[in-house]
Amino acid sequence: MIPAVVRDFVKSLPGPSALVGCMAGGQPFPCCEYDVALFGPGANSVVQIGDHAVELMYVEKSHVLEFGDMEIIKDSKSFSLSSRVKEATQEKRGKALRASGRRALVTSLMYQQRMKDAKQPLLASMWLKAGAYKFVRGALALAGARPMPVHELGQVRQTELVGMAEGVQAALECIGIERATRPAIARSVKAVAELKSGDYDSRLVQSKADWLLEKSMLADCYYFLGRATCESLASKNNAFHSRYAKLAQLALDLSADQQGLEKLQKNLSRAAKKALS
Ligand SMILES: [Zn+2]
Repeated sequence: MIPAVVRDFVKSLPGPSALVGCMAGGQPFPCCEYDVALFGPGANSVVQIGDHAVELMYVEKSHVLEFGDMEIIKDSKSFSLSSRVKEATQEKRGKALRASGRRALVTSLMYQQRMKDAKQPLLASMWLKAGAYKFVRGALALAGARPMPVHELGQVRQTELVGMAEGVQAALECIGIERATRPAIARSVKAVAELKSGDYDSRLVQSKADWLLEKSMLADCYYFLGRATCESLASKNNAFHSRYAKLAQLALDLSADQQGLEKLQKNLSRAAKKALS
């Protein structure tokens, strides 16, 4: 259920909209925000409405199929979100989800190539991590689970990853989940805040990480921070990466063990290619 203040606020915005994400049909944590999809042009943002954090995500009108459960907040005659949602059968949504999974695997392979092309060991290590996160998302989507950032590691534990369990294991090794200790996370939290200071969702990421840490969900916290950092870094250019390599190393708890990385990358690449074949 959407609180009335949130609903009223979203209704005041132009364009059709719907509640999506874990609040619409998952098992939200108390730290989760209300994710709202707005169909039309705009810049994503996070707003605080009373006690509630609301993430506004602007999506193209043709992307209705990309969401799982949806609760329509506002419809329009010209767009008719409700009839589009009705037309989006399980089968069509499943197909769209699998297609998104394949795209994530292709992106994973692309990031692995960037690892090979990287001129600095730290950047190579960064691209491998980014490729590993994309692999996990792809594997989840192909297994029928819609990846949700703060829940993703939990989803990995709960989803039957037929034929991809080994690949996911390789990805988690690349991510370095076994290094999830409080000191490593504390270093990471600081660096992530600095790296993501220009991102619209930086405070939201911090508050979620704080909550996971408070609940002693160390692996989930480590995973989540790394994922958010990789997403942010992947959207930046080479100049940014070279300039902030040190900060990226702290944020992502990167290792510069070239040989170890190359071996992990081979396993990950093999798994991605197998899943795509
Ligand atoms: Zn959530």
